[in-house]
Amino acid sequence: MTNEDKKRRDFIKKMAGLGVLGLAAAAGIIGGRYLKTDKLRLRPPGAVDEDDFLALCIKCGQCLQVCPYDSIILEDLEGGAGVGTAYIEPRERGCYLCEAFPCILACPSGALDHEKAEIKYVHMGMAVIADESACLALYNKPVPDSAIDRIYEHTKVLTDEERETKKIEDIPNPSEKRELQVELLKKLEKFRGKQCTICADLCPYHPDPTLAIGMVAKNGGYIPEIREACVGCGACVELCPTDVLKIIPRATYQEIYKKA
Ligand code: SF4
Ligand code: SF4
Ligand code: SF4
Repeated sequence: MTNEDKKRRDFIKKMAGLGVLGLAAAAGIIGGRYLKTDKLRLRPPGAVDEDDFLALCIKCGQCLQVCPYDSIILEDLEGGAGVGTAYIEPRERGCYLCEAFPCILACPSGALDHEKAEIKYVHMGMAVIADESACLALYNKPVPDSAIDRIYEHTKVLTDEERETKKIEDIPNPSEKRELQVELLKKLEKFRGKQCTICADLCPYHPDPTLAIGMVAKNGGYIPEIREACVGCGACVELCPTDVLKIIPRATYQEIYKKA
């Protein structure tokens, strides 16, 4: 077992010791510190074990180039794992779990395992509720404009004017990439000023997102409940208006929710 594995196991044990509710409150703090100091990144779908991934990723950027959502970024000098290593920063752009996982198929080195290019084999990490008290649904508060506008900033296929005005032009023969990203914005737009169920309604887990997340009643409002099928894609983390959710990279449902 590597040092990284030991630290991760201790971290998860610590969280599990707090129980799920304790974990919900603490994951943001402990998890945040853990992620910051240990630099355990969220890797693209299909990533092999962390040590093997770091050895195998040849920093070619192929996965990034085929990603239609621009979800994958490459580590810079401060990344820790080496300039050019692929990762996902979910608050900036989650993964949207493309049906055919082009990122996995494009990887020439085995860092993303071609045998895992199906949703049933994908496991990137696990979502946790890091700050339940920030959830808009708990207080039945409407989704503010700023929360929707923020996602336009993440959408690289738009022109500067579209990003500025929040008005998307109909262009002839748009690329598939533009179509997919615009479709996401259109789904999100429906929540402007409405009750927030964004994390549950826009979870891309397929075929049935309710196996990964659902809204449950609490104190006169609602909060999200993370379920067993969650693959840690981070879409909910990106889209949440108030930063309620976090991803613990490579953690499993069992480790987080069942060992308390
Ligand atoms: S599954 Fe799709 S959205 Fe997710 S990283 Fe791969 S190519 Fe990008
Ligand atoms: S709940 Fe859904 S959107 Fe959030 S990380 Fe899990 S699979 Fe992805
Ligand atoms: S996206 Fe989910 S967690 Fe975030 S405020 Fe809305 S309901 Fe709450």
